[in-house]
Amino acid sequence: MSGTVLFLGAGATKSVQGPMTDEILPAIFAEKARIATSDPEGRVAQLVQFLQDEFHVSPGLPKEQYPGLPLLMSLLDMALDRRELFDAQWDVSVLAELRVAIELGIFDVLEEALRKFPTNNHFSLLTKLFVAPSQPQIITTNYDLVMDAALMYMSKQQQDPGGLPNYHCGIANISALGPQEKFGTLLKLHGSLNWLFCRTCQRLELGATDSTRYLSILEKIAGPDLKSSFTADGAPCGVCSRTLRPLLVAPSHLKDYRNPHISQVWYEAQRVRRQADRAIFIGYSLPDDDVEVIYLLKRGLAHITDPKKITVVGYCHENPAIALSDHSIGRRYRALFGDVDWHAGGLDGWLSNSV
Ligand SMILES: [Zn+2]
Repeated sequence: MSGTVLFLGAGATKSVQGPMTDEILPAIFAEKARIATSDPEGRVAQLVQFLQDEFHVSPGLPKEQYPGLPLLMSLLDMALDRRELFDAQWDVSVLAELRVAIELGIFDVLEEALRKFPTNNHFSLLTKLFVAPSQPQIITTNYDLVMDAALMYMSKQQQDPGGLPNYHCGIANISALGPQEKFGTLLKLHGSLNWLFCRTCQRLELGATDSTRYLSILEKIAGPDLKSSFTADGAPCGVCSRTLRPLLVAPSHLKDYRNPHISQVWYEAQRVRRQADRAIFIGYSLPDDDVEVIYLLKRGLAHITDPKKITVVGYCHENPAIALSDHSIGRRYRALFGDVDWHAGGLDGWLSNSV
């Protein structure tokens, strides 16, 4: 048994100024004109209208007054599942379009953030924790591409032309790549913006985006372009020609992990956890409603008996030196794992002081 496993939550993305879940709807609203340029069907405009009509959102409203994204997606999923109407003008087929508009908006907002903000701290984190020949092992609840980009960059630095992460989920268009064209393990428990899934034949393909396109291997595999995949027509499945959709476990209250590719990722995450002798958490708050993830962590780390082998990096704006037992997140970790190695100065603070 050996090795370190890194676990990332939303706070890791926040540390590169990426948007948090509660900032995505306000960003879609604020950037609707820009997003509309990649949305010829006008779905995002329809989503904005829906938010105004049904959730009392108006221009300039602070984010606290928006409906939560998990709540909104859960309500849409519930109405779609029951085939019921919210209101006469929003029938079931329109609700399905709104669901697609949210996916497009999430993709656009996260991709725009990744283009603007440097991901240096993720790269530093990897180079400090994983010295060659050991390769990074990462589990993440984030479906953005911040860590993907950092990992691809690290692989290129270590051995040009670099390799793609091992995602462990049967992506068809990279299945022929050899081991030398893969680098590190990246287990994305909630799916990924660059995984495109066919709901008919269950084929999964990796798509390319502007933020990750620098890896020459991505040209070679000739995956679908992601931007077009999120827009009206979408990229077609290579087998049955149905439209591919991104494979994301929506941040709703009804998280659905039954997708076979997602199940494979979870199985691998359990295996990687059990073999690690050190675990590092960055920006994961252990929310009580994340029962499936907490179950995975509790079982997967049961063999680590020394709590100091578990490092937790959180962020307390008011007091970066706050003690574990004085912080609500610290207390949640303590209850599960004991007196862990706790840091509340954020990822950048931890990298400069402790690693
Ligand atoms: Zn298909």
